[in-house]
Amino acid sequence: MKKEMNLYLEEMPDEALLDYVTEKTGQKFRFNQLKRYLIQGVPAIDDMTSLPASLREQLKQDFKFGTVTVEKEYRSSIDDTVKFLFRLHDGNCIEGVLMKYLHGYSVCISSQAGCKMGCKFCASSDVRFSRDLTAYEMLRQVYLMQKTAGDRIGNIVVMGIGEPFDNYDNLILFLKTVHDPEGFNVGYRKITVSTCGIVPKIRQFAEENMPVNLSVSLHAPNDDIRKTVMPVANRWTVDEIIKACRYYVNKTGRRVTFEYALIEGVNSDKKQAYELVRLLKGLLCHVNLIPVNSIRQTAYSKPNPETVKTFQNIIMNAKIPVSVRRELGSDIQAACGQLRKTEMRE
Ligand code: SF4
Repeated sequence: MKKEMNLYLEEMPDEALLDYVTEKTGQKFRFNQLKRYLIQGVPAIDDMTSLPASLREQLKQDFKFGTVTVEKEYRSSIDDTVKFLFRLHDGNCIEGVLMKYLHGYSVCISSQAGCKMGCKFCASSDVRFSRDLTAYEMLRQVYLMQKTAGDRIGNIVVMGIGEPFDNYDNLILFLKTVHDPEGFNVGYRKITVSTCGIVPKIRQFAEENMPVNLSVSLHAPNDDIRKTVMPVANRWTVDEIIKACRYYVNKTGRRVTFEYALIEGVNSDKKQAYELVRLLKGLLCHVNLIPVNSIRQTAYSKPNPETVKTFQNIIMNAKIPVSVRRELGSDIQAACGQLRKTEMRE
């Protein structure tokens, strides 16, 4: 077989890869071993230790590989949260977070190197967008964090750097692969995808027949406020987002989570709480309130605890499930994009 130096190993069609492996080793079963390694998100060819060393060397010569390595690891001294800065094969940096809950380990992964969406409260929007991640680069983040955990990853959140629906095809391939019993075997119901509200993709996602949890960054009960914090609000209205979410709920039977960053003087007033209640009444949903400092230190400030409590009570009294996000790893800049920002600027 002709050398295909420009091809990524993970993107090779099965038939061609089977031919290649059989030609190099005379052993068809090596193809299955190799496929399993890929599905399991092994982050480098050298980690495929069941393959003969000669085949590994040959693969390295003949193919490119989207290697992911741990560049830095920050452990919280307050809880068991670990924040990772990963280096990609082309020098880009992304982030992931490993969190320990009572029910097991959960990881948050990135879907893009950078983000085009420009949300005002997010550190990821301060460093330019570089590129989409492949499905395998997403898998490899899970692999590396599972290795650190030393235990099975039970929950996955696609909520790190990037807008997952802006990298739709790779996201879908990632979800199917991470759900594969030969791989991580994570149930769809244990996976959450977070979007800033790309309306056509919410509808398309509803058609995928994957009962994944959908989380929507709403952050405002109306377009006027939303436009001041999220440029994407100039493209799709709050009303269009809610209609798309109703469609998602009807199609999948899954409730939608609305993320709402509480920002003092912007969206945390009683008036906005009542407006949010009117907007969400009757929709199968959950509201997750995030006092803004737990996202990032910005010009924005977090409301005082009484304001947060009042906001929460208004939603709770309307019988809409609501929680205030528990702040994990507050000593290690666990908020999205901060490590990448520092690293890429250096
Ligand atoms: S909050 Fe999400 S969508 Fe918005 S800029 Fe940050 S990473 Fe992008």
